[in-house]
Order: sequence, then structure tokens, then C-alpha cells
Amino acid sequence: MISVKHLDKHFNRGKKNSIHVLNDVSLDFPNKGLVVLLGPSGSGKTTLLNVIGGLDKVQKGQIDFFDHNISHYKSAIWDKIRTEEVGYIFQNYYLMPNLSVFDNVAFVLKMIGIQDKNEIETRVNYILKQVGMYRFRKKRSTQLSGGQQQRVAIARALVKNPKVIIADEPTGNLDSKNTLEIMNIVKSISANKLVVLVTHEKELASFYGDRIVEIKDGKIINDDQNTTLQDHAFSNDNTIYLKDLVEVSNLESKNLKASFYADSDEVLPTQVRLIIKNKTLYLDIQSDIQKIKLLNEESHMVVKDEHFTKKTREEMLVTTFDDSVLDHSNLDKHKKFTISFKNSFWIAFRKLMNFGRKGKLMLAIFMISGMLVAFATINMYSILTKDYKDALTMDERYIQVNKNSFYQGNGGASALLDKVNGETSGDYVIYMERLAASNQLRIDLGNGAFKSLASNIKIEYSKQLKQNDLYAGRLPLNANEIVLSYGVYSKDVLNDQNFQDIGIWRPEDFIGEVLAFSGALSDPQKRYTVVGISKAKYIAIYAYDYKTAFTLTNFDSINSPSYTTTRQYEESILQSSNASLDAYIFTPNYLELKQALEDAGYMVKLSSQAVIDQNNIAIAQQTAANLLITIFLIGGGLLAFYFVMRSSMISRIYEISVYRALGVRKLEIYSSFAVEIILLTTVSSLIGFGLMSFILGAFSNSPLRTFIGFRIDFFIILFGVIFVYAANLLIGLLPMGLLLRKTPAQIISSYDI
Ligand code: ADP
Ligand code: MG
Repeated sequence: MISVKHLDKHFNRGKKNSIHVLNDVSLDFPNKGLVVLLGPSGSGKTTLLNVIGGLDKVQKGQIDFFDHNISHYKSAIWDKIRTEEVGYIFQNYYLMPNLSVFDNVAFVLKMIGIQDKNEIETRVNYILKQVGMYRFRKKRSTQLSGGQQQRVAIARALVKNPKVIIADEPTGNLDSKNTLEIMNIVKSISANKLVVLVTHEKELASFYGDRIVEIKDGKIINDDQNTTLQDHAFSNDNTIYLKDLVEVSNLESKNLKASFYADSDEVLPTQVRLIIKNKTLYLDIQSDIQKIKLLNEESHMVVKDEHFTKKTREEMLVTTFDDSVLDHSNLDKHKKFTISFKNSFWIAFRKLMNFGRKGKLMLAIFMISGMLVAFATINMYSILTKDYKDALTMDERYIQVNKNSFYQGNGGASALLDKVNGETSGDYVIYMERLAASNQLRIDLGNGAFKSLASNIKIEYSKQLKQNDLYAGRLPLNANEIVLSYGVYSKDVLNDQNFQDIGIWRPEDFIGEVLAFSGALSDPQKRYTVVGISKAKYIAIYAYDYKTAFTLTNFDSINSPSYTTTRQYEESILQSSNASLDAYIFTPNYLELKQALEDAGYMVKLSSQAVIDQNNIAIAQQTAANLLITIFLIGGGLLAFYFVMRSSMISRIYEISVYRALGVRKLEIYSSFAVEIILLTTVSSLIGFGLMSFILGAFSNSPLRTFIGFRIDFFIILFGVIFVYAANLLIGLLPMGLLLRKTPAQIISSYDI
């Protein structure tokens, strides 16, 4: 049973144009019978029906809908009720223009979860025959007249055999003959279930209604059982009664029997020729009568060879409608999305294919916004991942001991060396802050000519390296083998030195070359073979030991060594009178050594700390400088997307209001729209994104990269693509979210405006 209590509703509450559309309405509806809501236009009938069917909410009041007691509007509950229990016949039909008549009706069966094709067909075909629309089942609703659309709308409401039929002036757009047929069906349904019918036609109300509730200005002014069991005065214009006409003439021959009837004696002369050619019957009619109609299936006219007799009430109400055909209580039901992904995709795809100039402009805007997003994300990523390693000038694992903390106090260099030696079991090197003597140290071309190396080459030690640190080649095995850093080869150095002249095109081409001192070519102790290339980007030569290092810097001559032991070399470096020179120590477990020295009271830091700090500052500064641009670029792109998706949604608002009125869940509508967004994004924003990534990638691989370098890798592309889709979905669904917050009735009224 349905009952509503103390419903109160205002439109435009608190404003000047406020309307008290429902004023303390309380009503109980029985489980069957035809209840007519009768009232003049504007009295609030539609609003009351909308509230009873969950299309609209009230400001006050309670609704009991069979098992549901509803005091606060919840769209999900009402969607379920409308889908399963209510057949709603709207005043304006609300058919789906892109579906056939058959599919419009079948749609609501799918909504309640009937998937079996045969079951759907039986029911839809039966109800379409009942409302006289079977012949039109393949037509689209836009090809139908108003009356025909109303019949389909009625079929759609009846086909799921609902508990309640809600009908808002269902015959308002029908002529009297159709009104009769439809009302007879509606009446017969009310034998088993509740029909709530809204009309402003008193005659209709008193002929069909079991109970008549009169409404005026949002108030119930009368509520009575209908006792006037009058025969109604509708004449059936659908039938031609031959016996009521004058038979003007009658011809009969072997192949033709022709009769001529008219509804008056004054018949204008009429000439008819019947011609059969190519199995086609041609009628050639010469007459002053302009209106000529053919009687066939589609003309809806019946010719009877009898007199018209006024029918009794019982005879008028005869119909063949049998709702047991529609009963689905024993069917298997499982709900799927009624707007299937496939369907949504094709709708979106067709829309895309039919884009006009405006649509194409929109795609171009999306593409540009995709490009902006790509630029902004890649730019930001490049800034945030700026690598301090590119700025290193020596192996980052060297620890730096402040000279003041050992030079004078703390036992001096000797104590430091003892400490380091003890902590590392002798596995360490001390960095000598001297450059290779590159003016003399050159590549021996073997023909008496030499090729200079870059200046500013640092000397490090091969002890620092593992095979893993090498870009190519191997580690040195003796004092006459050296490793060069990748930086020696790097493009700028290469261009400076024209190594290509001597056949060095790639870093590994250095391997096998011999470095020699120009003044001591023949001295085997001063010739060094390159055996490997390290990955370091700065310019360095890795020496095998201190002796090699001293020789390479031309600081010590092998022939007259100043120091005879490693320890002496080390101390000489640390004791250097230049008090600004800190000690740089390398050992494989450099962090442990750092800790140990710190604990022993030395001032220690990582040699790379300054570079790391500098890099972080640079990242912070550039991030700050670019953040605003990034926000503007991405925000601008998304704003454009929002407005375009909003206008796309507005173009679909009719479809959406029909879905919502029928009880299609919001989730389904969201996902249908999401399919469109994903498709649009793929053919516009994604292409723009890819294009910009490609351009920036090409840029970064060209000589221009020294000015602006972009870092592009799989992860930023993946992130960007996900961002583009997620942002477009979120922004694109936003206008839909704002719309779907409204009740179906509110959506309908925003469509009507
Ligand atoms: P009926 O169906 O009896 O003709 P309605 O229920 O459609 O009446 O409307 C009742 C009154 O409420 C009318 O005055 C109408 O103009 C007004 N009304 C209906 N819908 C809205 C709306 N969405 N916003 C403002 N006023 C409305
Ligand atoms: Mg109305």
C-alpha cells in the first residue's frame, strides 16, 4: 500500500515567486483500483505524482511505499522502487530517440534484470500488439506521431507488470478514438493493481475512475468513491458502419465487385479507374473530394457491415489485455548495466565521427591541453629529478676531514693516518689535489706525433673502482695501466680535442691508446696504457698507486723520488703547508670511517655534501619558479575540458533525464559518460601528450639540450598518461555530478527550460 502524510512542498521557497505547490497533502492509496487525481492545470498534480514516484522530494512529510517508509529523500532507494515497482507514464512520453520502439520497451525489462532474449521478445511484442504499435516496433520514436509515442510510453510502463502505474495525463495528446483504447487498457490493469491517473478531464475521470481525488492549489478539496456509472458519450471514430451509410451504387462483374457508399445523398460525381500493372494496383481517382485515404493495416480504421449501436458500459470496457502474459515473478533475473559499455562506446564514437567545426575545435583544444600537461609534467619532473651526480667533481664517496681539526691539534697528520689505517686495515687512499700534467701527458700517435688531452684532468685512484663502475674495459693490473673517466670523452671535451681525428668516436675507442710524456717517450716507466673507461662524468685519470699519481702530475720524478714510502707520500699531502687544504680520504666503507673519525673528534663531512646541498637548493628554486606556470598550464587545460564536457553533458541532458526518470542508477550514467570521456581523451589529449613528449624528447637528444634539458623516461610518461585520464575523468564527470545531485524532476525541469 502507498500512503503519503502531510506532504508539503514549495517551489522557490523564500523568494518572491514562491509557490506552495503541495499544501499538507495526505492520501492513502489502495492496492488496486483506478484513483484519479483531478484538477485544473497548475494545481500541483504533476508535482504530487512526481513525489509519489520518487522523482521529486518534499520539504516535509512522510511517504510509505509498500515496504519502504521514506521520510528523507534517498535517490538510490527511489531508483530501485521506480525500476522494480512503478510503471510511469509521462505526459511528454520521454522515449529514447536513439532507440527503436522495441528497444525502448525492452529497456525497462533489462533494467529489472531479465536478460533472456525470448522472454523479452514475448513480453515486448505482446504489449506492443496490445497498444497497437507492433507494426512500428522497428521504427525510432522520432519517426512517430505524438499519439503513437504515447502508446509506446504506455507499453513501456506496462511491460514490466509493475505494482503501481502512475500516469500523468496519458491521453492528453491522443484523439478520442485512441483515448478510448488506451483508457480501456489502463482500466483493465486497475482490476489487479493500483493505477494513479492524473487528468483535468472530468468526463474521463467520472467514466473510468473508481475514486476521484480533486486537487486545487496544492490542496485536496474532494476525495470520493466514484458512483456515477454513466455510459460515456465517446463515439468511436475508428469504425465505419456501412449500414449507417447510403449505398450509392453497386457494380458486379466477373473480376470486379465495387460498392460506393456515402454519408449523404448529395454525392459528387466520382470516377475511379483500377489498373493492374506489374503486380501493382493503381487507383486513378477523379473526384472533387480532396482528402483520399487508403484503408489498410496502418490506417487504424475498421469497416463493419452493420449499424452503430450505442454500447453499454460493460461493452465499452471490453479489452483483451491479460497481464498474466507479463508476469515475470518466476523468471531468472540478474542485473547488468542496461546502458552497456559497448553501447556507450558506439554512441560516443558516432558522436565523435559526426563532430562539426565546433567539435573539431574542441578536439584541438583538448590536444593542446594534453600538450600543456605533457610539458608541465615533464618540465617539473626534470627539475625534481635533477641529479647532483652531474655536478660532481670527484668521487662522491671521498670523505672530507677539515684541516683545522688535525693540522695542528689532535696529533697532526700522523695521528689521523694511524686512525684511518686502523679503521680500514690499510684499505684507503688519500686524494691528492693536483691536476695531471696534461701539457706533457699526451696520446702517443705512434708516428712521433702526439695528441693533447683536455686540461684540468684530476687524478684519482683505480682502487676506488669496481668492475661495475666501468663503462667499458677493465681495471688496471699494474702501475702502467690506467683508466680514464667517461668525462674525458664527453662531447665538449671531444669537440675541443678533435679526438675523431685519431679515430676515437666512442669512449671505448680510448682503450688501448697509450698516454706518454712528450719529453720521455722511450721511458717505459712513463708510458701508460688505457685499459678501461669509468662511468664518472667529470674528467679524471685513475692511477694505480701514489707513484703513478705523482708521476702523472709531474710532481715527482721517478729518478729522484722525494718520498720512498707510501706513508711519506700521504703525510706530505696532509702536511701541506696550505692550511686550506682539507684531507680527502677514500675507503670502500666510507660511511663507517666518517662515523669513526667523527667520534674521534675530527670535523668530517662527505665531499659531495656541498654538491648535494647546492643541487637541492637549485631544485627548490626552480620548482618554486615553475610551480605557478605548471598550475596555470594544467589548470587552463582542465578548465577548457570542464567547459567542453559540460556542454557535451547539456547536449545529453534529455537522455539523462529519461534515464533518471526511469530509475537508471547514477553509477550507470557516470560510467556511460566516462566511456565518452575516455574516448575523447584518447583521440585528443593523449595524442597531444604523446606529441609534446616526442618533441621534448627530440629536443633533449639534440645539441640544444645544453640550454634546456628534459628528463623523459617510462615512469613520467606513465604518470602523465594516468594523470591525463584521471584528471579528464574527474573534471569531465564534475558537471555530471552536479547535475545528478538533483532529483529527476529537477533534471527534467532544467531540460524543459
Ligand atoms: P499540474 O500538473 O497540476 O498542471 P504542476 O504540478 O506541474 O501542476 O505545477 C504546479 C505549480 O508549480 C505550477 O504553478 C507550476 O508553474 C509550478 N511549478 C512546477 N514545477 C516547477 C519548478 N520546477 N519550479 C518552479 N515552479 C514550478
Ligand atoms: Mg501536469
